[in-house]
Amino acid sequence: MSIVEELESEVRSYCRTWPTEFKEAHGAILTDTSGREFIDFFSGAGTLNYGHNNDLLKQPLIDYLTSNGVTHGLDMTTSAKTEFLEVFRSRILTPRGLPHKVQFPGPTGTNAVEAALKLVRKVSGRPNVVAFTNAFHGMSLGSLALTGNADKRAGAGVPLDHVLRVPYDGFDPDVDGLALLDRMLSDGGSGLDRPGAVVVETVQGEGGVNVARVEWLQELSDLCRRHELLLVVDDVQMGCGRTGAFFSFEEAGIVPDVICLSKSISGYGLPMALVLLRPELDVWRPGEHNGTFRGNNLAFVTGAAALRAYWSDSTLEKSTGDLADQVRERLTRLAGSVGADVSVRGRGLVQGLRFAHAPTAAAVGRRAFELGLLVETSGPRDEVLKLLPPLTVDGARLDAGLTVLERAVRELA
Ligand SMILES: *Cc1c(COP(=O)(O)O)cnc(C)c1O
Repeated sequence: MSIVEELESEVRSYCRTWPTEFKEAHGAILTDTSGREFIDFFSGAGTLNYGHNNDLLKQPLIDYLTSNGVTHGLDMTTSAKTEFLEVFRSRILTPRGLPHKVQFPGPTGTNAVEAALKLVRKVSGRPNVVAFTNAFHGMSLGSLALTGNADKRAGAGVPLDHVLRVPYDGFDPDVDGLALLDRMLSDGGSGLDRPGAVVVETVQGEGGVNVARVEWLQELSDLCRRHELLLVVDDVQMGCGRTGAFFSFEEAGIVPDVICLSKSISGYGLPMALVLLRPELDVWRPGEHNGTFRGNNLAFVTGAAALRAYWSDSTLEKSTGDLADQVRERLTRLAGSVGADVSVRGRGLVQGLRFAHAPTAAAVGRRAFELGLLVETSGPRDEVLKLLPPLTVDGARLDAGLTVLERAVRELA
């Protein structure tokens, strides 16, 4: 028995999915202690959009460490923070005309969602928030209340309330969730306690790679404006270029009131999260939402380097589109040749293979691992294989990974 099995809590999960000991990682490759290489179509669940140990980010980090740059300083002003904010404004906010201010919550995705929730409740004065079927927003109590998955919710141990659940785009072909919500909000007899905000993902990653149509997102944005609801986009997984543009909502041309970012914002897999809020929503009192790890300076350094390296022009966005076409094409061909059991879904470089017979997805994932590829499942029944290769993967490696996947699917589907 390894020390992991012996000592680490039963709650552990990915080490069960991929039972080996990883030692090194670079780009789209993870290497285990026996020297075996795995192509990474997981990318830390969207944390490693620029690949493992990206050299363009590593050197600035090494230089910062070598020069005794401040590593921890709560939210004190440091050179690293100042520089990150400068670069974030010049590369991301200003070019998109976004007036938003930046809040540093604790360094995880759920920390960003909790901060956003607290803020929209404070601003609106209303405790209820709209969330969608199959949403995933994190594991702490506020964000878990927004999350749809029954197994995850069952772990809470206390009531998960103050959330109004609405069908996401495509949840049920016969139900228009937004039309229903609109109608309920418009009718004083509906019995609905008015919510203050809506929290949404543009593509539900954990929920099974469910893609909201652009028109649906626009309709949601209109609905929020008409009914004076604050719109929060949780871009923790789909932001930082995963769908092509830096923010996943750009394609829809909407501007959320609040935006949550984490996962790939540091670019290097270092913990970091941001809440972006319209200036008029910035009603926080100093220190009202606190936390020891709100300014991860090492993450500021790599985050600024990533924005400089990849978001000074549209090169990455274009290449993501090209790679997405490559993935989409091969998956569509594969699904077509396997039959009705398999279908393709996704946007940009988050693409999914959905299996009508749910257990096949996990079986394919296990087989892919044996063949040297990391790819995880998502969805309420783990019925969707979710492909999240690094955005910086080269076409040949991407192809090699897809070939492994194709073989696993053909063997099992
Ligand atoms: C991963 C994720 C979170 C939670 O992030 P953690 O860092 O795991 O707390 C929240 N929202 C979305 C959309 C995510 O994908």
